[in-house]
Amino acid sequence: MTATIIDGKAVAAKVRGEVAARAQALRGRSITPALAVVLVGEDPASQVYVKSKTRAAMEAGVEPVDHRLPATTSEEDLLALVRRLNDDTGVDGILVQLPLPKHIDTDKVIRAIDPAKDVDGLHPTSLGLLAQGQPQFVACTPRGCMRLLAEAKVELAGARAVVLGRSVLVGKPMGLLLANANATVTMCHSKTRDLAGEVARADVVIAAIGKPELVQGAWIKPGAAVIDVGINRMADKRLVGDVQYAAAAERAGVITPVPGGVGPMTIACLLENTVEAAQLRRAP
Ligand code: NAD
Repeated sequence: MTATIIDGKAVAAKVRGEVAARAQALRGRSITPALAVVLVGEDPASQVYVKSKTRAAMEAGVEPVDHRLPATTSEEDLLALVRRLNDDTGVDGILVQLPLPKHIDTDKVIRAIDPAKDVDGLHPTSLGLLAQGQPQFVACTPRGCMRLLAEAKVELAGARAVVLGRSVLVGKPMGLLLANANATVTMCHSKTRDLAGEVARADVVIAAIGKPELVQGAWIKPGAAVIDVGINRMADKRLVGDVQYAAAAERAGVITPVPGGVGPMTIACLLENTVEAAQLRRAP
């Protein structure tokens, strides 16, 4: 069997088109959806992410409000900025680019964000609402994975889903989303005893580990849906996922490539969360 490839770039373009239409409708009501992006320090990867978020926002009719602070910024000053953005009625979403410099308590900063503007979905209120089955803002990458599964028409109700990784950013919200969609979910992590056995039973595999090609193609159940969140840069500069792509594609029913799978969905879903935040707060 050769898998159908899920084209993340095409789905992300579709989502960005939907966002642009919603942003335009809001602008028609004199509401300009605005996303504040806070970058502390000069981490090159973060600078690239922020640049692409800003560009994608502008293209979709979402106004980016950039705040670039030096690496020496104190926790107190960053918290003060977050509070100002919370109070700014023109700002709909607040994104603090991670990682933050070591002297700043990341959890404290995330908890300071108004949950009504938590478009990254990392605030405990956002995760709590998701756990209660009443999501408000879902973390962008898992939201993107759910959309890819929907576009590929993968049946989740009753399916056996295995999530590899249990981070707050990806694995945990992913597991909750799949359980809310009536899948039977197993969450695996670094202490899981028989990863191969867990994967082999799964109708849906979400790999979010950050270890190049750890998931062997031979583990994949024939016909399974495989969503590879991992992004790993190899010594020869190639990007690979957490799954052995070519071998897995021989067995899977549908599969996402790396790059061009989950990656493009993250920013698209961030913009989707931002127009939803604008709508909820300013045009309920
Ligand atoms: P993380 O390091 O916070 O979490 C990794 C998880 O993998 C942990 O829960 C850990 O227990 C688990 N793990 C580690 N070794 C394992 C093993 N041998 N078997 C099973 N589980 C194991 O990482 P993260 O932030 O969740 O990101 C995971 C990957 O997804 C990374 O490659 C990251 O670059 C990528 N990512 C991609 C996007 C995107 O937009 N496509 C967004 C976020 C993260």
